[in-house]
Amino acid sequence: MKSYQHIFFDLDRTLWDFDTNSKVVIINICERLGVNKKCKVDFETFYAVYQQINHELWEQYRNGKVSKEFLSVERFHASFQHFGLDDLSLATQFSHDYVTDSPYMTGLFPGTHELLQYLHKKYKLHLITNGFAEVQLIKLRESKLQDYFDQVIISEYTPWKKPSPEIFHYALEKANAKIEESIMIGDDLGADIKASAAIGMDQIWTNFEKEESAFKPTYEVFSLLEILAIL
Ligand SMILES: [Mg+2]
Repeated sequence: MKSYQHIFFDLDRTLWDFDTNSKVVIINICERLGVNKKCKVDFETFYAVYQQINHELWEQYRNGKVSKEFLSVERFHASFQHFGLDDLSLATQFSHDYVTDSPYMTGLFPGTHELLQYLHKKYKLHLITNGFAEVQLIKLRESKLQDYFDQVIISEYTPWKKPSPEIFHYALEKANAKIEESIMIGDDLGADIKASAAIGMDQIWTNFEKEESAFKPTYEVFSLLEILAIL
């Protein structure tokens, strides 16, 4: 095994339980704004459609095809439209409330603090995240994660996003880390794992959803605490 010195983490869906946190916030806003009544649909049906639309828009955002502002509102606007409601101002309100409320959620995957406390003593820890800056910094503070990390690289503050190789090189430089002493930990097979592998960095794929893949990362785990046996 290599002697690692630097560990780069992804945040959303790797440490911060994005899907659980996000769903709670969306349930609350739907209730507050009466969305289910207006769309004449039950919450779970609405939410399934939203998730699909949000996923597609994030893909387009990562590829530079749409702006952050468009993505933020359109994911709700298009979801309402799917159920026959064309209400841009409701979507704008929803988007505002969502971005305001969600970073205050503090749901983390089991073992997050235990893992980070352990790793923090042995390695330098850093974050590379594609999330929106104003949201990610609040999440880190509210979830009491910020003190573990040395460098926090937020794609919005750079010209790049994962999976672009430049953001990894930029992160390595900021952390004063060499590729061969570094390992990337993340849930996204493309943006975190294949992307870091492509520049020669080792990787731990946190495959909580047990996705099938022909790609073989350096390591693969199904829960965070399995990482204790690797590092
Ligand atoms: Mg992620």
